[in-house]
Amino acid sequence: MLMEASEILRGGCLCGAVNYAIRLDRLPPVYACHCLDCQTWSGSAFSIQCVMPEDVLDVAGDIEIYERKTPSGHRSLQRFCAHCHARIFNTNSLRPGIAVLRAGTLTRSDLVDVVGHIWAKRKQPWITIPDSVPSWPESAPTADFAVLVMPR
Ligand SMILES: [Zn+2]
Ligand SMILES: [Zn+2]
Repeated sequence: MLMEASEILRGGCLCGAVNYAIRLDRLPPVYACHCLDCQTWSGSAFSIQCVMPEDVLDVAGDIEIYERKTPSGHRSLQRFCAHCHARIFNTNSLRPGIAVLRAGTLTRSDLVDVVGHIWAKRKQPWITIPDSVPSWPESAPTADFAVLVMPR
């Protein structure tokens, strides 16, 4: 049973078998990643995601896990809907207890604003990042990125 949450804090997969609610007062800041992995995995131009403590993410439904070893040797556990295979969130042994949510699965993804862009050197050429939004050619320095994306 999912908790009540405002619409912006809810989401789910394509087929409806998986739903989630975020137990926070507001949506954590969303960032975009333009790296090749994100393009390949999403089949799109970039990914959008936000980070939060795993225990505030209240997920209901059949989840399947795909484990991937990252280039740095950590374990990335990707959570999919077991039926339609929409990717919902992942955790990483590099950052225990932190969930990275695919922001495109939010019910009101149309309200999402992006606070920063990483791997901009790999972005598709038709995408123009506004001057007012921070971007980094590759991964952002950890301290800068934490300030930008931590739930506030
Ligand atoms: Zn599904
Ligand atoms: Zn990426």
